[in-house]
Amino acid sequence: MSDETPSPAAPGRADPPRRAVVTGAAGFLGSHLVEELLRRGTEVVGLDSFLTGTPENLAHVAEHPGLRLVRCDITDYVHVPGDVDLVLHLASPASPVDYLKLPIETLKVGSIGTLHALGLAKDKGARFLLASTSEVYGDPQVHPQPEDYWGHVNPVGPRGVYDEAKRYAEALTTAYRQTHGVDTAIVRIFNTFGPRMRPYDGRAIPTFVRQALAGEPLTVAGDGLQTRSVCYVDDLVRGILALASSDLTGPVNIGNPEERTVRQIAEDVVAATGSRSSLVFVGRPVDDPQVRRPDTALAASALGWKPEVEWADGLARTVAWFREAVVAGGAGTAQ
Ligand code: NAD
Repeated sequence: MSDETPSPAAPGRADPPRRAVVTGAAGFLGSHLVEELLRRGTEVVGLDSFLTGTPENLAHVAEHPGLRLVRCDITDYVHVPGDVDLVLHLASPASPVDYLKLPIETLKVGSIGTLHALGLAKDKGARFLLASTSEVYGDPQVHPQPEDYWGHVNPVGPRGVYDEAKRYAEALTTAYRQTHGVDTAIVRIFNTFGPRMRPYDGRAIPTFVRQALAGEPLTVAGDGLQTRSVCYVDDLVRGILALASSDLTGPVNIGNPEERTVRQIAEDVVAATGSRSSLVFVGRPVDDPQVRRPDTALAASALGWKPEVEWADGLARTVAWFREAVVAGGAGTAQ
């Protein structure tokens, strides 16, 4: 939990920031954050190795004079000339399919990559924001999860590479604040959905939307009674930028507390796509959490943040994007 009383904007800090570095800029969340920063008049240097993201996610702003997208693996080095007010550190494989395929890369970007991103913030005197995750709570024994819950993680389970990388990244971020006085913040992001998710990234919503649009059965894990809380990407971006411009240290949960069963999500996707697909029940992944719901009291009281986009609305926007970009455009259809 935060150890200081936050204020909406820290004194002496440019708000909106003049120049921000976004690691993982070409990913799902990174690209939406870049878009919103540019819209608010912030110059952006995007760093990305294109490991799980693609420059196509930023194609619509590629010619924007405020954007520089640089191919760079931040576990090798990070070098950004000029002033920087804000470092948003998002680089990391994030979907289970990705981090199970890329375990060492995931641990390296959470450790060495975070070290480099923190070093950049320290050199530039910039605010630093770590994109952490609800996965630090593991398969939680406290429900919903407040920020002061320490979690229930299996370090040697298959998901340990991601969960422990983020837990280490949180510890490193805290140490840089305490030891070097870097102005840090930690956001714990809960499941987020929206346009630019990859159809084969293995997460429930893009998988269901892809299957429904193709008229295939929707593969629901287990009995589908496990729950998820999903936040529309625009709400998440607003929450992250509110945290960035506050002086709150975090961790702060950002997510939508509305909880649904996975089965309900599948049924809603079938309805939203107008598909005739049926549901089939398949095996559940090891260490798949049974429940997941953020306690967002801190974000509400300290940042005045709450989600605004209704589930049905967010789902409709996501389906519309999938129809246009994936089905019609053929983008990201490779498995
Ligand atoms: P994503 O895979 O779409 O984006 C991650 C980006 O990081 C990709 O563009 C990838 O190429 C880049 N990257 C990976 N390793 C890199 C490296 N070594 N150097 C430079 N770039 C590198 O994932 P996302 O869903 O956009 O997630 C972004 C961040 O948010 C991640 O840190 C993730 O842990 C966190 N997060 C996401 C969610 C969610 O629901 N999407 C939930 C919790 C936390």
